Amino acid sequence: MYEIRFHGRGGQGAVMAAQALAEAAVLEGYYAQAFPYFGAERRGAPVRAFARIDESKISIKSQVYEPDVLVILDESILEIDPISEGLKPGGKAIINTVKRPEEVDLGIEVECGTVDATTIALETIKAPIVNTSILGAFARVVDIVPLESILNAIMNRFGEKLGHQSGVMNAEAARIAYQKTVVGRSKGTRKVVGKKMWLPTWNEIPIGNTLSPGEIDGIVVGPGSMTQNLTGTWRTQTPRYSKEKCIRCLRCWFSCPEGCIERLEDDYERWDYRYCKGCGICAEVCPADAIEMVRGVYEW
Ligand code: SF4
Ligand code: SF4
Repeated sequence: MYEIRFHGRGGQGAVMAAQALAEAAVLEGYYAQAFPYFGAERRGAPVRAFARIDESKISIKSQVYEPDVLVILDESILEIDPISEGLKPGGKAIINTVKRPEEVDLGIEVECGTVDATTIALETIKAPIVNTSILGAFARVVDIVPLESILNAIMNRFGEKLGHQSGVMNAEAARIAYQKTVVGRSKGTRKVVGKKMWLPTWNEIPIGNTLSPGEIDGIVVGPGSMTQNLTGTWRTQTPRYSKEKCIRCLRCWFSCPEGCIERLEDDYERWDYRYCKGCGICAEVCPADAIEMVRGVYEW
């Protein structure tokens, strides 16, 4: 059995990628399953999805803890999650990055395919939704499902849901990524520290006590824990503010879902980049073009 674990962020299409891969496997005559696991269900939040492919019926229903293949749709998650945890020594990894495989430190040395899926997605489907590009890279690195079946699954899934043209553009993204993927071996120097998967049950908490803030798998619980959730680690693009253009209408200030735009005494704004998740809402609502979304993670 092949077990595949996808790591991405809400909005990048990790779940659709797992489903399309499973569909491609079924087209090849395999049995397959695909399902997601969400932590904080918001755009930009870390998301996992899983797929299993086998020649016989699959009865396991658990998450994938020891994957044969890791698919990483957002390189920045390597910094906040022990992504390589459980990856089999002979496993493989596919990563959306501009780096070459030997420059990527997964904490384990494995066969690794790298591709700049974000640029391919921006150029083909005009949005940073990298799921179909990364599937093209998958076909290049893992030989269980050929590119042709992945393209057919993309056409079925995206064409039916979003229209024929969307299917064509997404299939094109996968085809380009297949050609551009660089295959090599990852570095293995990063220490992969597993997370403790634990929360007390209601009858383990002494009466009168509240939970102290703690973290489990993407969810931070307990009073006052919101400040621990550094949503700034989620962003892939950063708003750049131009005070010269700002007309002090305050639309950005009251539209920001993270409350990370500070209104100064003179009604100009200041950003707290620790919590800015790069959703782009502030730039969208600004009537003066005073906020520009710039690809990458910056603090100005
Ligand atoms: S991009 Fe703008 S609206 Fe979105 S979190 Fe950052 S500051 Fe707030
Ligand atoms: S929305 Fe634009 S113009 Fe209005 S306060 Fe924010 S940055 Fe300034």
